[in-house]
Amino acid sequence: MHKRLFIPGPVDVREDVLQKMATPQIGHRTKEASDLQRRISEKMQKVFGTKEQIMLSTSSGSGLMEGAIRSCTAKRAAVFSVGAFGNRWYDMAKVNNVPADKYESEWGQPTTPEMIEEALATGLYDLITITMNETSTGVMNNMEELSKVYKKYPEVVVCVDTVSCAAGVEIKADEWGIDIVMTSTQKALGLPAGLAICSMSKKAVERAKEVEFRGMYFDLLNLYETIQKKDHQYPSTPSLAHMFALDYQLDLIVNEEGLENRYNRHLEGAKIVRAWAEKHFAIFPNKDYMSQTLTNIENTKGIDVGELNKKLGERGYMISNGYGKMKNKTFRIAHMAETTPEELKELLAIIEEILDLK
Ligand SMILES: *Cc1c(COP(=O)(O)O)cnc(C)c1O
Repeated sequence: MHKRLFIPGPVDVREDVLQKMATPQIGHRTKEASDLQRRISEKMQKVFGTKEQIMLSTSSGSGLMEGAIRSCTAKRAAVFSVGAFGNRWYDMAKVNNVPADKYESEWGQPTTPEMIEEALATGLYDLITITMNETSTGVMNNMEELSKVYKKYPEVVVCVDTVSCAAGVEIKADEWGIDIVMTSTQKALGLPAGLAICSMSKKAVERAKEVEFRGMYFDLLNLYETIQKKDHQYPSTPSLAHMFALDYQLDLIVNEEGLENRYNRHLEGAKIVRAWAEKHFAIFPNKDYMSQTLTNIENTKGIDVGELNKKLGERGYMISNGYGKMKNKTFRIAHMAETTPEELKELLAIIEEILDLK
């Protein structure tokens, strides 16, 4: 039996979108391949709020995270972490021999403007990374607020992980001065995993030219230059199956549902889960910085989350335990991609029944 997924990726994919992955293959050096990529780019620019070049990578989002920090740090990177995925970015810097320092917030708390100001005022850094929506803790940073600080340092390349929120909340990459914004297909975009997407500003391109060892597969400068030179084609063979599905899904997102409606639906889902969490449990993150694509719930009743998920599984549903060190201390319900408020209400009613909540 298929379990309806309420986990923060991978998400359930619409049947018609899934079918698009079975589109007959085309040559990756043809005009059709260029046109496909160009159509995807135009729509992804709307999702990211940017006019910069869009680039696809046949990998999950982590590939572009690693590529960004390695390709665009000439001096030293400051990694602002609010949880497991921010920490992963720091670990990527280390194993790639990229000089970096980590500024980690207490779990459940955001990155603050003060933290950024303090770090950048040292003059040590020429690249920073920020996690907009941290899937491990359920925190969403306020990018508008943070951008006011880092914009005062024009030499700094700003990289932002929007893996678990792009297409679920509004992103204004250009307005917020973001040089590289990245996401994966298997979260709020509502596709299977296997493709990652980013934008790259001219500033980031110029920076990458100063970096000698950028690697190969995730060399963002090589990706950028190939797209420019070869009319939206890639250095190696991309997953055309994902591209067919992404092109189609982006039409549904941008033109059929509309971005504004999609963001509102995500917020509506968030409000339902938050209200339920407050009634029966508690919300883990700082309430001024709650994610709109997933809710991390504090397990105040000490329930057995594994057992709950087993029982949900028997009825065709699945939620997520707490991430890493928060396992059993919290549990997470995603309200992203195509999930509707009605489905969430249905899920919550079943959890109430299983746990005998009044
Ligand atoms: C899922 C996730 C990642 C990792 O993305 P992959 O596509 O699994 O490599 C990174 N950051 C955040 C915030 C995520 O939710």
